[in-house]
Amino acid sequence: MIKTSFINPFSSDAQKIVRQLGDMELLDNTNEKLFNIVLHTPSQYVSSDVNLPDTLKKLAFKRFEWFLYKKTENFDEKNYEYLFNPDIYEYDVVAFYLLCQAIAIGYGPDSREAKQFIESEKELISKRLEKIQSESYEFQSEFLRTTLNQLIDTNNIRWTDIKEVLELGELDLDNLLLSNGKVIVEYEDFIEEFGDLIEYRDPQVMYQVTCGQKLKIILLRNLIMIKTRDYIRTVSEKAKKMVEPNKLLLSLSEDIRLLEDKVQELKFLSGASSGNYKSDMQPVNFNVEAFPPCVRKCMSGIKSGGRNDAIVLFLTPFIAYARLCPGIFSMDERMKISMVDSSLEITNNEVIPLIYEAAAACSPPLFSDQPQEKININSKLGFGMHSQLKLDHEGETQWYTPMSCEKIKLHLSQLCVPNRDCKKIGNPLTYYNRKRRLLERQENNTANADNTEKNMSDE
Ligand code: SF4
Repeated sequence: MIKTSFINPFSSDAQKIVRQLGDMELLDNTNEKLFNIVLHTPSQYVSSDVNLPDTLKKLAFKRFEWFLYKKTENFDEKNYEYLFNPDIYEYDVVAFYLLCQAIAIGYGPDSREAKQFIESEKELISKRLEKIQSESYEFQSEFLRTTLNQLIDTNNIRWTDIKEVLELGELDLDNLLLSNGKVIVEYEDFIEEFGDLIEYRDPQVMYQVTCGQKLKIILLRNLIMIKTRDYIRTVSEKAKKMVEPNKLLLSLSEDIRLLEDKVQELKFLSGASSGNYKSDMQPVNFNVEAFPPCVRKCMSGIKSGGRNDAIVLFLTPFIAYARLCPGIFSMDERMKISMVDSSLEITNNEVIPLIYEAAAACSPPLFSDQPQEKININSKLGFGMHSQLKLDHEGETQWYTPMSCEKIKLHLSQLCVPNRDCKKIGNPLTYYNRKRRLLERQENNTANADNTEKNMSDE
């Protein structure tokens, strides 16, 4: 039996679930019960590459992934059937709050991520409600009534009470059935106000045409969207007073950032007309012409503040991934350099020299007063805090992925001097990949044109 909290995470039942299951310490632990529900969901596609969620944190991530992946090619709903399985309701409520908090803390209430999440909630509710259409009319009717009344008294709504819903644009005041400013939502109110006027028609049909379940569904999902928006805002305000946000929430918000980069890359790949992009998952020669403005600026040396972070945190991951694995954002696994450069030959002979060159161009040169930054560079490449790059140390730290444009604008704003190719770009590496392929295509076209011209003059 479907529970109202499967649709409405703001119900009192849902709050109770959060109190019972929402212990932050446990949200990254394997949850067998959750995994079993996921695994045995009818029609769920099961294979190693689907990566089914077995923790509440992963479930939260998958909720967001479902929404972003829907806009890419090759999306398959069967990979996410469990999101529409009512048995998941308890875990789903916790995942909802986890996502709200990670987005509030990581991105803020006015961010693109917050808007996407609110939109995803609307789509999730709509799809879940579609699934109850196989139930009897009485059940659907009762379910909608109960769920909606957890948010608003459906027998006493004045149009002014739903001003914010009207502002969302899905409902128009002109299309609502009003009686002295009261919005008619329930059948008994419809009959009381207009029953006398209905002749020779079925009142139930008239009710469904003028308001009925369609209105209830719109009200329900819009009210939940508004409550979600308000909740994210409240969490964000509270987070400003916190000394240190919860690590799990920070990690989830970082996972979301990587997901966004990956989706952007996938969209570009599916829109691209030529080229074998699998090759981007292994070393690819540098094309300096395709470097974005921020990288060029950094390569020419930092003359004012932010020098260390610009070289260590920004440039090092960019240069390393651009040369060794530019397709990182379309991959699922975390990479180690040795997976693509087993002898570290490219890393030692091409990656490090380019980073050191930029470090030397700074004023003052980075290593002249801070030689220990060489160790920090090694650590960002995944080789721990050591002065030498050695395979034995690999994995002691993570190979950092390139910073997003948003982070650069926030922490190293002097580097970001966008040009027209920066439009709709979320990461300098995506800029690089896109520009590189564009330049390759232009080169191929020019070569083809030259050949044609030569052939014609030979004839
Ligand atoms: S928008 Fe992004 S890619 Fe473009 S200059 Fe700024 S940080 Fe670099």
